[in-house]
Amino acid sequence: MTSPLCLILFGPPGVGKGTQAALLTEKYGIPHISTGNILRDAVAKKSALGKKVQHVLETGGLVPDDVMIGLIGEVLREPDTMNGFALDGFPRTLPQARALSAIFDELDIRDYKVLELEVDEEELVRRLGSRLVCEKDGTVFNTEADGVSLNAPCPECGARLIQRDDDREETVRRRLEIYRVTTSPVLAYYETLGVVLRVDGAGSIDVVQREIHLLLSEDA
Ligand code: AMP
Repeated sequence: MTSPLCLILFGPPGVGKGTQAALLTEKYGIPHISTGNILRDAVAKKSALGKKVQHVLETGGLVPDDVMIGLIGEVLREPDTMNGFALDGFPRTLPQARALSAIFDELDIRDYKVLELEVDEEELVRRLGSRLVCEKDGTVFNTEADGVSLNAPCPECGARLIQRDDDREETVRRRLEIYRVTTSPVLAYYETLGVVLRVDGAGSIDVVQREIHLLLSEDA
Protein backbone atom coordinates (compact mmCIF):
# COMPACT_ATOMS: atom_id res chain seq x y z
CA MET A 1 0.00 0.00 0.00
CA THR A 2 1.34 3.48 -0.84
CA SER A 3 1.32 5.97 2.00
CA PRO A 4 -1.34 8.70 1.97
CA LEU A 5 -0.38 11.97 0.25
CA CYS A 6 -1.21 14.69 2.77
CA LEU A 7 -0.56 18.18 1.43
CA ILE A 8 -1.16 21.68 2.73
CA LEU A 9 -1.14 24.36 0.02
CA PHE A 10 0.12 27.55 1.57
CA GLY A 11 0.43 31.06 0.18
CA PRO A 12 -1.36 34.38 -0.30
CA PRO A 13 -4.77 34.78 -1.92
CA GLY A 14 -4.55 34.52 -5.70
CA VAL A 15 -1.30 32.57 -5.76
CA GLY A 16 -2.99 29.55 -7.36
CA LYS A 17 -3.59 27.23 -4.39
CA GLY A 18 -7.08 26.27 -5.56
CA THR A 19 -6.02 25.72 -9.17
CA GLN A 20 -3.04 23.57 -8.20
CA ALA A 21 -5.03 21.63 -5.59
CA ALA A 22 -7.67 20.77 -8.21
CA LEU A 23 -4.93 19.42 -10.50
CA LEU A 24 -3.46 17.38 -7.64
CA THR A 25 -6.91 15.90 -7.11
CA GLU A 26 -7.04 14.88 -10.77
CA LYS A 27 -3.58 13.32 -10.75
CA TYR A 28 -3.53 11.58 -7.37
CA GLY A 29 -7.25 11.11 -6.68
CA ILE A 30 -7.00 12.86 -3.32
CA PRO A 31 -9.83 15.18 -2.21
CA HIS A 32 -9.37 18.94 -2.55
CA ILE A 33 -10.41 20.49 0.75
CA SER A 34 -10.88 24.23 0.26
CA THR A 35 -12.13 26.00 3.37
CA GLY A 36 -13.03 29.02 1.20
CA ASN A 37 -15.24 26.82 -1.02
CA ILE A 38 -16.85 25.16 2.00
CA LEU A 39 -17.66 28.58 3.50
CA ARG A 40 -18.93 30.06 0.20
CA ASP A 41 -21.13 26.99 -0.22
CA ALA A 42 -22.54 27.50 3.28
CA VAL A 43 -23.28 31.16 2.43
CA ALA A 44 -25.01 30.17 -0.83
CA LYS A 45 -27.14 27.59 1.04
CA LYS A 46 -27.92 30.12 3.80
CA SER A 47 -27.07 27.49 6.43
CA ALA A 48 -26.45 28.52 10.06
CA LEU A 49 -22.70 28.53 9.34
CA GLY A 50 -23.29 30.53 6.17
CA LYS A 51 -25.25 33.22 7.97
CA LYS A 52 -22.55 33.45 10.62
CA VAL A 53 -19.67 33.93 8.16
CA GLN A 54 -21.28 35.84 5.26
CA HIS A 55 -20.19 39.32 6.35
CA VAL A 56 -16.63 38.20 7.13
CA LEU A 57 -16.28 36.65 3.68
CA GLU A 58 -17.66 39.69 1.88
CA THR A 59 -15.25 42.02 3.63
CA GLY A 60 -12.20 39.75 3.30
CA GLY A 61 -11.63 39.19 7.04
CA LEU A 62 -10.90 35.92 8.82
CA VAL A 63 -13.58 33.62 10.21
CA PRO A 64 -12.90 32.99 13.94
CA ASP A 65 -10.44 30.21 14.75
CA ASP A 66 -12.87 28.13 16.83
CA VAL A 67 -15.32 27.95 13.90
CA MET A 68 -12.58 27.02 11.42
CA ILE A 69 -10.92 24.46 13.69
CA GLY A 70 -14.25 22.72 14.35
CA LEU A 71 -15.00 22.67 10.63
CA ILE A 72 -11.65 21.26 9.51
CA GLY A 73 -11.71 18.63 12.27
CA GLU A 74 -15.03 17.34 10.93
CA VAL A 75 -13.83 17.29 7.32
CA LEU A 76 -10.54 15.52 8.08
CA ARG A 77 -12.30 12.82 10.09
CA GLU A 78 -14.35 11.86 6.99
CA PRO A 79 -13.30 8.49 5.52
CA ASP A 80 -12.55 9.93 2.06
CA THR A 81 -9.40 11.61 3.43
CA MET A 82 -7.87 8.22 4.29
CA ASN A 83 -5.63 8.20 1.22
CA GLY A 84 -4.61 11.80 1.64
CA PHE A 85 -5.87 15.28 0.77
CA ALA A 86 -4.88 18.66 -0.62
CA LEU A 87 -5.75 21.23 2.00
CA ASP A 88 -6.25 24.73 0.57
CA GLY A 89 -6.91 27.79 2.76
CA PHE A 90 -6.19 26.23 6.15
CA PRO A 91 -4.37 26.95 8.41
CA ARG A 92 -4.36 30.76 8.23
CA THR A 93 -3.36 31.54 11.84
CA LEU A 94 -0.96 30.03 14.37
CA PRO A 95 -3.76 28.66 16.60
CA GLN A 96 -5.19 26.96 13.50
CA ALA A 97 -1.78 25.46 12.69
CA ARG A 98 -1.36 24.13 16.23
CA ALA A 99 -4.89 22.72 16.22
CA LEU A 100 -4.18 21.03 12.88
CA SER A 101 -1.09 19.38 14.34
CA ALA A 102 -3.25 18.02 17.18
CA ILE A 103 -5.80 16.66 14.66
CA PHE A 104 -2.96 15.06 12.65
CA ASP A 105 -1.67 13.40 15.86
CA GLU A 106 -5.13 12.09 16.64
CA LEU A 107 -5.52 10.71 13.09
CA ASP A 108 -1.94 9.36 13.10
CA ILE A 109 -0.92 11.54 10.15
CA ARG A 110 2.85 11.86 10.50
CA ASP A 111 3.96 12.36 6.95
CA TYR A 112 2.69 15.57 5.37
CA LYS A 113 4.13 18.42 3.35
CA VAL A 114 3.45 22.13 3.13
CA LEU A 115 3.72 23.41 -0.45
CA GLU A 116 4.47 27.10 -0.20
CA LEU A 117 3.54 29.01 -3.35
CA GLU A 118 5.16 32.39 -3.82
CA VAL A 119 4.21 35.26 -6.15
CA ASP A 120 4.94 39.00 -6.05
CA GLU A 121 2.14 41.08 -4.42
CA GLU A 122 1.34 43.38 -7.38
CA GLU A 123 0.98 40.31 -9.59
CA LEU A 124 -1.51 38.90 -7.05
CA VAL A 125 -3.62 42.08 -7.17
CA ARG A 126 -3.61 41.85 -10.97
CA ARG A 127 -4.51 38.16 -10.99
CA LEU A 128 -7.35 38.52 -8.49
CA GLY A 129 -8.72 41.54 -10.36
CA SER A 130 -8.94 39.48 -13.54
CA ARG A 131 -10.48 36.44 -11.86
CA LEU A 132 -14.09 35.47 -12.63
CA VAL A 133 -15.96 32.48 -11.28
CA CYS A 134 -18.88 30.44 -12.56
CA GLU A 135 -21.95 31.44 -10.56
CA LYS A 136 -23.10 27.83 -10.44
CA ASP A 137 -20.07 25.83 -9.32
CA GLY A 138 -17.27 28.33 -8.65
CA THR A 139 -14.99 27.16 -11.49
CA VAL A 140 -12.29 29.81 -11.86
CA PHE A 141 -11.54 31.68 -15.13
CA ASN A 142 -9.23 34.53 -15.95
CA THR A 143 -10.25 37.41 -18.20
CA GLU A 144 -6.77 37.55 -19.74
CA ALA A 145 -5.79 33.88 -20.01
CA ASP A 146 -9.24 32.51 -20.86
CA GLY A 147 -10.64 35.46 -22.86
CA VAL A 148 -13.85 35.54 -20.78
CA SER A 149 -15.73 38.60 -19.51
CA LEU A 150 -17.99 39.56 -16.63
CA ASN A 151 -21.60 38.29 -16.94
CA ALA A 152 -20.70 36.21 -20.03
CA PRO A 153 -21.75 32.52 -20.03
CA CYS A 154 -19.41 30.03 -18.34
CA PRO A 155 -17.48 28.22 -21.14
CA GLU A 156 -18.12 24.91 -19.37
CA CYS A 157 -21.76 25.01 -18.29
CA GLY A 158 -23.30 28.23 -19.62
CA ALA A 159 -24.10 29.73 -16.19
CA ARG A 160 -23.15 33.37 -15.61
CA LEU A 161 -19.56 34.41 -14.86
CA ILE A 162 -19.34 36.73 -11.85
CA GLN A 163 -16.66 38.42 -9.74
CA ARG A 164 -16.34 37.19 -6.15
CA ASP A 165 -17.26 39.98 -3.70
CA ASP A 166 -13.88 39.57 -2.07
CA ASP A 167 -11.98 39.98 -5.37
CA ARG A 168 -12.75 43.72 -5.53
CA GLU A 169 -9.52 45.71 -5.31
CA GLU A 170 -9.99 47.24 -1.83
CA THR A 171 -10.95 43.85 -0.41
CA VAL A 172 -8.02 42.17 -2.16
CA ARG A 173 -5.63 44.67 -0.52
CA ARG A 174 -7.16 43.87 2.87
CA ARG A 175 -6.85 40.11 2.32
CA LEU A 176 -3.20 40.52 1.32
CA GLU A 177 -2.54 42.60 4.42
CA ILE A 178 -4.14 39.94 6.63
CA TYR A 179 -2.01 37.34 4.88
CA ARG A 180 1.17 39.34 5.54
CA VAL A 181 0.41 40.07 9.19
CA THR A 182 -1.47 37.00 10.44
CA THR A 183 -1.03 34.11 8.02
CA SER A 184 2.57 34.31 6.79
CA PRO A 185 4.02 33.74 10.33
CA VAL A 186 2.47 30.26 10.16
CA LEU A 187 5.20 29.38 7.70
CA ALA A 188 7.88 29.70 10.38
CA TYR A 189 5.94 27.13 12.44
CA TYR A 190 6.13 24.62 9.57
CA GLU A 191 9.74 25.51 8.78
CA THR A 192 10.67 24.52 12.33
CA LEU A 193 8.95 21.19 11.68
CA GLY A 194 10.97 20.80 8.45
CA VAL A 195 7.99 20.10 6.20
CA VAL A 196 8.03 23.06 3.79
CA LEU A 197 8.60 22.64 0.04
CA ARG A 198 8.93 26.01 -1.71
CA VAL A 199 7.36 26.49 -5.16
CA ASP A 200 7.75 29.48 -7.49
CA GLY A 201 4.12 30.31 -8.32
CA ALA A 202 4.87 32.92 -10.97
CA GLY A 203 4.93 30.58 -13.98
CA SER A 204 2.00 29.23 -15.98
CA ILE A 205 -0.38 26.72 -14.37
CA ASP A 206 1.39 23.84 -16.17
CA VAL A 207 4.88 24.97 -15.19
CA VAL A 208 3.90 25.30 -11.53
CA GLN A 209 2.17 21.92 -11.59
CA ARG A 210 5.29 20.28 -13.07
CA GLU A 211 7.46 21.85 -10.40
CA ILE A 212 5.14 20.50 -7.70
CA HIS A 213 5.28 16.97 -9.14
CA LEU A 214 9.04 17.18 -9.33
CA LEU A 215 9.33 18.35 -5.70
CA LEU A 216 6.98 15.62 -4.53
CA SER A 217 8.82 12.88 -6.43
CA GLU A 218 12.21 14.08 -5.17
CA ASP A 219 10.81 14.13 -1.65
CA ALA A 220 9.25 10.63 -1.85
P1 AMP B 1 -10.20 31.54 0.09
O1 AMP B 1 -11.10 31.06 -1.00
O2 AMP B 1 -9.27 30.49 0.63
O3 AMP B 1 -9.45 32.81 -0.29
O4 AMP B 1 -11.15 31.92 1.33
C1 AMP B 1 -12.15 32.89 1.19
C2 AMP B 1 -12.48 33.50 2.53
O5 AMP B 1 -12.96 32.51 3.44
C3 AMP B 1 -11.31 34.14 3.26
O6 AMP B 1 -11.05 35.47 2.81
C4 AMP B 1 -11.81 34.11 4.70
O7 AMP B 1 -12.78 35.10 4.94
C5 AMP B 1 -12.53 32.76 4.77
N1 AMP B 1 -11.60 31.67 5.18
C6 AMP B 1 -11.22 30.59 4.44
N2 AMP B 1 -10.38 29.80 5.12
C7 AMP B 1 -10.22 30.39 6.33
C8 AMP B 1 -9.45 30.08 7.49
N3 AMP B 1 -8.66 28.99 7.52
N4 AMP B 1 -9.52 30.92 8.55
C9 AMP B 1 -10.30 32.02 8.54
N5 AMP B 1 -11.06 32.38 7.48
C10 AMP B 1 -11.02 31.58 6.38
